[in-house]
Amino acid sequence: MKAIVFDNFKTFPTLKDIDIPTPGPGEVLLKVAGAGACHSDVAVYNEFEKDSPGVVPPPFVLGHENSGWIEELGPGVSGFTKGDAYLVYGPIGCGRCRACSRGQDTYCENAATNPYLGIGLGRDGGMAEYVTVPARNLVPLYDADPVAAAPLSDAGLTPYHAIKNSLPNLADGGRFALVIGLGGLGQIAVQILSALTGATIIATDMKPDAMAKAEATGAITVGGGDDQVARIREITGGRGVDAAFDFVGASATVAVAAQSLARMGRCTIVGIGGGTYEWSFFTNPYEATLTNTYWGTIEDLHEVVDMYRAGQIVPEVERFSLDNGLEAYRKLQAGELSGRAVVVPHGS
Ligand code: NAD
Ligand code: ZN
Repeated sequence: MKAIVFDNFKTFPTLKDIDIPTPGPGEVLLKVAGAGACHSDVAVYNEFEKDSPGVVPPPFVLGHENSGWIEELGPGVSGFTKGDAYLVYGPIGCGRCRACSRGQDTYCENAATNPYLGIGLGRDGGMAEYVTVPARNLVPLYDADPVAAAPLSDAGLTPYHAIKNSLPNLADGGRFALVIGLGGLGQIAVQILSALTGATIIATDMKPDAMAKAEATGAITVGGGDDQVARIREITGGRGVDAAFDFVGASATVAVAAQSLARMGRCTIVGIGGGTYEWSFFTNPYEATLTNTYWGTIEDLHEVVDMYRAGQIVPEVERFSLDNGLEAYRKLQAGELSGRAVVVPHGS
């Protein structure tokens, strides 16, 4: 079968012919419906080195944002019907620690000794005609479109988890949320904030078309510039935002997020830009929180699918054939995508 393989550090992936995998005990073989291209993949193949923190050594098939149809059951697996559509929870922890027991494989206590981080992150992913996944990682899609659903497993789940943790900050009247970076994750973040909170959503991106899209979902947008923080604070009547979400994570964006906070506000860094920010008693609002989140829990993913099926999350996707899948990564890197790039190996 064809697959998009990350072969070497700091090397653009390649399209290759590899064997169709065999599902092991407790696993299923999925016929891939859709595999989303995430900006984290770009960091994986462009920036990571052998000794980088959280590194996932090559080679493996990319694609950690997957959906598909049941094709074959591995030993010991029952209760699934061939052809049924599922979304895949990507992280794979040890399955035994406290974090894994609550469905939060992302924070597995044994991550340092696990063989990989997840499907498409150290272990072969969904940028291929078929992928094997543990049956435990499947979330049913029922009759929902599995291709448009693929981005939910990261571009939906990650902002959902970040926002869910910030809901106490946004639950009351007169609240403000700030979203920085309106790409794959950020656009869905605006949709989730609209559906779950009554907060006024302020959003920003370098790209005017990305801001126009967020406006269409109900956000007020503020372009960049030296007075950006002042303009954000002005919208809030000077008080600042109650929750900020940074889907870039560069020093400049973390600074905008942190400086826009209200007292007791919460700033969540989701983007892996690796930027830094000085946090001291005198430079920050009282009782403000600066935190980060990584992906989400499998229970969160069930809730994200519920929102998708209810029409509250509508991922905008740009479809690519597997033969043209490398173009999805090229466009993602170049900032040329208009929706989440989804590779559709078996036609749409
Ligand atoms: P994307 O490329 O689809 O979107 C990024 C957006 O940010 C683009 O619209 C771009 O124009 C905008 N942007 C870039 N620099 C900016 C700046 N300085 N100011 C304002 N806007 C800026 O990327 P994505 O797939 O949505 O991923 C977003 C980030 O989240 C990446 O860093 C990715 O690696 C990370 N990520 C983190 C997790 C996690 O669990 N924490 C999960 C998935 C992705
Ligand atoms: Zn674990």
